Amino acid sequence: MDPRHSEAAAAELQKLREQGLLREEWPIVGPQGPEIRVEGRAGAVLNFCANNYLGLSGHPELVAAAHRTLYTWGYGMSSVRFICGTQRLHWDLERKVAEFLGMEDAILYAACFDANAGVFEPLLGAEDAILTDRLNHASIIDGVRLCKATRFVYEHADMADLEKKLVEAASSRFRLIVTDGVFSMDGDVAPLDQICALADRHRALVMVDDSHATGFMGRTGRGTPEHCGVTGRVDILTTTFGKALGGAMGGAIAARKETVDLLRQRSRPYLFSNSLAPVVAGATLRALELLAQTTELRDRLESNTRVFRERMTAAGFEIRPGVHPIVPIMFSRFTPDDAPLAQRFARALLEAGIYVKGFFFPVVPRGLSRIRVQVSAAHTPAHIDHAVEAFTKVGRSLGVL
Ligand SMILES: *Cc1c(COP(=O)(O)O)cnc(C)c1O
Repeated sequence: MDPRHSEAAAAELQKLREQGLLREEWPIVGPQGPEIRVEGRAGAVLNFCANNYLGLSGHPELVAAAHRTLYTWGYGMSSVRFICGTQRLHWDLERKVAEFLGMEDAILYAACFDANAGVFEPLLGAEDAILTDRLNHASIIDGVRLCKATRFVYEHADMADLEKKLVEAASSRFRLIVTDGVFSMDGDVAPLDQICALADRHRALVMVDDSHATGFMGRTGRGTPEHCGVTGRVDILTTTFGKALGGAMGGAIAARKETVDLLRQRSRPYLFSNSLAPVVAGATLRALELLAQTTELRDRLESNTRVFRERMTAAGFEIRPGVHPIVPIMFSRFTPDDAPLAQRFARALLEAGIYVKGFFFPVVPRGLSRIRVQVSAAHTPAHIDHAVEAFTKVGRSLGVL
């Protein structure tokens, strides 16, 4: 026992509180969806900040699949995969994930965080190099740290800098370029066509974390490789089941067969962490079946996104251009007052019945404060009307419009 540690922790928390950086959690009453109730608040609010891109989190087909799986396969596995934690269901899902992503094979993890933590160390050693985008997800940063390969950080989506670093790393045995498929703060898509061209020219491998894309980016929702026209040219894909694919939890790595086979033998979060809950595997399988049958949901998400972006632009808001359902509403015109403005704006929107999150320094650079809206296929035209109206009303009252 050393009570000094709790005092140090309390001091650290107080510092965060004073800087306005304390992250708060608001309990939602009932299931996730386009309309939610927040504990302690009367009435429903419209949810515009979930990763529930396709509206599958509360989809009756997935809930039914989860129920069926629960009765057939039980609740928990109480084992890692290689002891007694593998059911036919897990193999079925791995096959389905690989097929959906157009890869040879796939391997399941408890989360995409674990997939990224466990992908580098087994595949690369001290004689190799990893070239990673500066804005890659925290789990990629941590995964790279666990690996002995030399790390080269290239400036965000900067192909000249990436090429420079490929040249610097020319003496390495293998070089792996790693990027998020879609970056979560701006909703911008990695330039995979150029990345794959550079990889081919310099004989490098490509890994894409498609967590914010699997299920809806690309004409049939296969993700950023389809969106960018590089299907079949990405060596390793990691993704999550915790966003568009029902949103419960779980992740996967899809790659060539030998790569996946090696991960099964050596990847530590796979070997030493519990097997994916059958309920999650069964419902995710159903999600992938639904998405393979029809593009209806991703089509609706695409049109909802287009409508929201067009109407917000017409209303006079500054939004980051793009095609992704992550729509950042910027306040750069008001710098240096953009941060408190974004904060006040988000609070006023909640009063108007719209739940969104404001992001400001140091989460994003100074002058780039924003409200990050996330559109869903589950939003109805009336939801979108309501959101644009609320943004406009608050925008006028705060002098933004
Ligand atoms: C959300 C996210 C993750 C983490 O996924 P989990 O399955 O929730 O662990 C990893 N990478 C990226 C790019 C993400 O957006």
